[in-house]
Amino acid sequence: MFKKILIANRGEIACRVIATARKLGIKTVAVYSDADAQARHVKLADEAFRLGPPAPRESYLRSDLILAIAKQTGAEAIHPGYGFLSENAEFAIACVEAGVVFIGPPASAISAMGSKSAAKTLMESAAVPLVPGYHGEKQDVSFLQREADKMGYPVLIKASAGGGGKGMKIVEKSTDFLSQLASAQREAESSFGDSRVLIEKYLTKPRHIEIQVFADTHGEAVYLFERDCSVQRRHQKVLEEAPAPGMTAERRSEMGIAAVNAAKAIGYVGAGTVEFIFDTLTGAFYFMEMNTRLQVEHPVTEMITRQDLVEWQLRVASGESLPLKQHELKIHGHAFEARVYAEDPARDFLPQIGKLAHLHQPAESAYVRVDTGVESGDEISPWYDPMIAKLIVWDENRQRALDRLTNALSDYEVVGLDTNLAFLRQLASHPAFAACELDTGFIARHRERLIPSPTPISVDTLALAALAELAQVEARNLAMRQCSKEPASPWWEADGWRLNQDNRHALHFRVGSQEYAVIAHYADTGYMLEIGTEKLNANGSLHGQMLRAVINGHRLQATAVRHDGQLTIVNNGANTELEPFNPLLVGLQVAEATGGLNAPMPGTVVAVHVKAGEIVEKGTPLMILEAMKMEHTILAPHAGEVKEVFFQKGEQVTEGTALLEIASQ
Ligand code: ADP
Repeated sequence: MFKKILIANRGEIACRVIATARKLGIKTVAVYSDADAQARHVKLADEAFRLGPPAPRESYLRSDLILAIAKQTGAEAIHPGYGFLSENAEFAIACVEAGVVFIGPPASAISAMGSKSAAKTLMESAAVPLVPGYHGEKQDVSFLQREADKMGYPVLIKASAGGGGKGMKIVEKSTDFLSQLASAQREAESSFGDSRVLIEKYLTKPRHIEIQVFADTHGEAVYLFERDCSVQRRHQKVLEEAPAPGMTAERRSEMGIAAVNAAKAIGYVGAGTVEFIFDTLTGAFYFMEMNTRLQVEHPVTEMITRQDLVEWQLRVASGESLPLKQHELKIHGHAFEARVYAEDPARDFLPQIGKLAHLHQPAESAYVRVDTGVESGDEISPWYDPMIAKLIVWDENRQRALDRLTNALSDYEVVGLDTNLAFLRQLASHPAFAACELDTGFIARHRERLIPSPTPISVDTLALAALAELAQVEARNLAMRQCSKEPASPWWEADGWRLNQDNRHALHFRVGSQEYAVIAHYADTGYMLEIGTEKLNANGSLHGQMLRAVINGHRLQATAVRHDGQLTIVNNGANTELEPFNPLLVGLQVAEATGGLNAPMPGTVVAVHVKAGEIVEKGTPLMILEAMKMEHTILAPHAGEVKEVFFQKGEQVTEGTALLEIASQ
């Protein structure tokens, strides 16, 4: 076994690999970009080295620097994690040439599966079933359009070099084909430096079922059963589970054997995943692609097989045989994984960047696991994937595991930026999900209920906010009193005794565009709070950020976090952001910017569709912004004449910048 390895990655997966290495007594070397100098993976590793500026091509993609660090530190092997260099055949070759073990398959297997098109050709010859489509070399636009027309709509355009849903476009009708093709090619070019695409028949009600395979250097290969990753948004996995609901033993072995055959056909070594698309209308399954690395969702397989897949990777890479044979692998219970993201579901899941002002994760146990790369106070930067953590739960059966998931999600608190936590909670508690009504359209179909609509603020939340404010006032008074020369002076009394004042205190909060007032009357046993027409007896104390309260005899515990002039109350897993304000200063508030023509996020302008003077309809695409390698189209919020376009193709914009101006007609 290796004595020291280098982890060429960041975030949760780097931390995950370090955990297993430590368990096996292997020393670890981390690498980091300037954005990650204080990151958790850097702190966990035995050694850490700077790569360069935050941009991946100047840091985590610098294979030359990474190899030099491996040589310098005496690391015998490199774990690439997922993303970055994990499926880069040239890097795998460079490792071999430098005499460092690449913890992954041989370069030839990566190349064989690197292009979705080439992989399909290969699988076709191995008699693995494929979705009808065109995956050949011809890229002539009119030829592709003819193929799509022949196949019948809807069709799906995919980047041949694709991954992560980038460069993937659904085309509903023939007249949309060319514009969608251009968009797919642009995304493919910017993400992979390769604009080639393939076309597939788009299945309307499929499930995504993938098989975990493992092969060693002694010619043995096994499958570690399936994962169901059907709950997706824009073709990106959101919730994964294992085993797949409704999977029969026969189908499981049929798919498992097909996956092992696919791996054997390309001389595979290490951890791999063969993805299938399963047509719920016909029961047929088709090969989609093979991912030649450890997947994000590998923990659900670890939970149900009771195996450590990173340990398997390290053993296989060091030349050992597979730890278990096929007949020794068993499924135990059921596991779920939910991906916790910094994103705003109410704004079409726009990635959020900023500081994690407060982070509380559910306690880990045999049932609950949290894989994360961040800590309270860390930044989610615009440079990388905005994933905060993966929450993994296990129990004896699906329903119990689902209950665990719901509970753990309620126990998860993030303050400082928007997250998909409330969305995940809705998802996990949706009756259709509990009833296994799974297909990749699940989220779109249940959107209304899943995207939490802003609910009116509750009286309890306002009371909690008032108690948090009052506790702070009292703490401040107490501190001032202790420092004062006359600590016994009635001026320091916190019970509301004031000269020329009623024994009341008015607190004002703004929530969105609404304003609320809470009048606190000091009483013998705390406060009497007046909120609208309600009167509540309340008392509370702050212990750091933990607020203990009793409201009308009901004991509550909440979290109160202050950040950037906001007070966030987290109660029962739901966040409410309140802005305490002084009504006497309201005249000084700056009017909010209006629009819909402002950049929703920092990014690059990749296309401008309109010119000054042009008349546009409501909904006309005006401009395309690219951020985090995804395209966002700016649509006209109303009809009118384009007055001015402030940015040209290629220019960078910051969040909130006005992009163009349209005069209403
Ligand atoms: P990527 O590698 O970019 O993630 P995949 O080929 O793995 O892309 O596909 C991602 C998801 O897109 C799948 O999980 C599935 O939900 C959906 N998808 C892919 N191909 C099809 C298809 N032919 N019909 C319907 N949905 C598809």
